[in-house]
Amino acid sequence: MNRKNSFDTVRIQGGYTPEEHNHASNVPIYLSAAFTMGSAQRGRDMAEGREPGFTYSRVGNPTVDILERRIAALDGGVSAVAVSSGMAAISNTILAVAEGGGRIVAHHDIYGASLDEFVSLAPKLGIEFDFVDDINNPDEVSKAIGPNTKAIYAESVTNPITRVTDVDRLASVAHQAGIPLIVDNTFPTPYLFRPIEHGADIVVYSSTKGINGHGNVVSGLIVDAGRFDWSSDRFPQFSEPEFTLYTESNGRSRSFVEAFGNEAFHQRLRCKFVRLLGAVLGPQEAYLELLGLETISERISKEVSSALRIANFLNHHEHVTKVNYAGLPDSKQSQLVSSLFPKGIGAILSFELEGSEDRIDRFIDATEVFHYVPNVGDVRSLIVNPARITHREVPFEFWERNGLNVNLIRLSIGLEDADDLIADLEQAFETAYRD
Ligand SMILES: *Cc1c(COP(=O)(O)O)cnc(C)c1O
Repeated sequence: MNRKNSFDTVRIQGGYTPEEHNHASNVPIYLSAAFTMGSAQRGRDMAEGREPGFTYSRVGNPTVDILERRIAALDGGVSAVAVSSGMAAISNTILAVAEGGGRIVAHHDIYGASLDEFVSLAPKLGIEFDFVDDINNPDEVSKAIGPNTKAIYAESVTNPITRVTDVDRLASVAHQAGIPLIVDNTFPTPYLFRPIEHGADIVVYSSTKGINGHGNVVSGLIVDAGRFDWSSDRFPQFSEPEFTLYTESNGRSRSFVEAFGNEAFHQRLRCKFVRLLGAVLGPQEAYLELLGLETISERISKEVSSALRIANFLNHHEHVTKVNYAGLPDSKQSQLVSSLFPKGIGAILSFELEGSEDRIDRFIDATEVFHYVPNVGDVRSLIVNPARITHREVPFEFWERNGLNVNLIRLSIGLEDADDLIADLEQAFETAYRD
């Protein structure tokens, strides 16, 4: 086939050839911890990487492999690695780029558990973070980069205030300094935004959220653009001899750069981090992810259109003092949003209510269609008060700068009828502000 398939075909068929799986039209779930190796010769060929194949499901599993291929194709990367959660995707990526210690420049407006890890755990493992106030200010970001900086880390759309990162500009700052750009693209999903097309080198996902979309699986994904040159002295881990890359034919151990060139990152990530730290994804979870992906376009486009209607409704409401949704035409970032996100920025938004926290509690308790759940990217619409629940782990020093306060409510819009969702919010306002 000469023509490259488009997103909507790849999300259904990408990475899967029925003829290789007893012609099963659906991807089979390979519930097998290990695989027969056939012959002593084949076993050796697989062990030395001369022949592809599966041996043990911590190293690779056919169902998980199809999910990885599909995501890599959807995102325009050379390879993807599936792991057991979004945090596993982030932690393994951070450990792999800054292996042995180093610094990473990041925005402080990031997912709560990521910030908690970067502030309180990573430093104990020798990885220090330099946080910038404005990730879209190239001067501030450049100044934060030092000789021991290993990467820039940002989210394409932040949680819960939907701040948008200018990925193209940030990628050029990173590349000028000889370091990769890592983007957490959980909120937009590859349907709304593909960071690799904008210069990102590594994309991480909590596919627990919009990629799977049904709130029934915890999982993570790492996509490698396969463009970054890892051979510089800044990243010695990729140039050192690796025992598992020993081949009898040339009688010595090769390095990851020598063996895989610009694909060294995902190869080392899989071989040294996912295989040894062991946070692999199971085949049943991978199957549910594949099932969720089949409807990603229809789901997200409906969710985005309902989210926009709800944001407009809230924007005009007397008890709402602020709406955070960069997809609104009057947003400060509307220009950046229309150039980077022609299909919208996503299904998550937040807003502030006037009055005491008691009103916020009453508002949440009064909603009936919205579920009070600390999650996003579900077919069910969800509501939460981030400062008390999902963002509790964000240190107070970051609250104001990240738009957090106890009057803030976050919504994740699902597939219910938008009129029902608005009516639910309307009756919650009535209950919360009755006296
Ligand atoms: C949920 C989330 C994570 C963490 O993912 P888990 O699957 O819960 O481990 C990371 N980043 C973002 C932006 C998220 O929303």
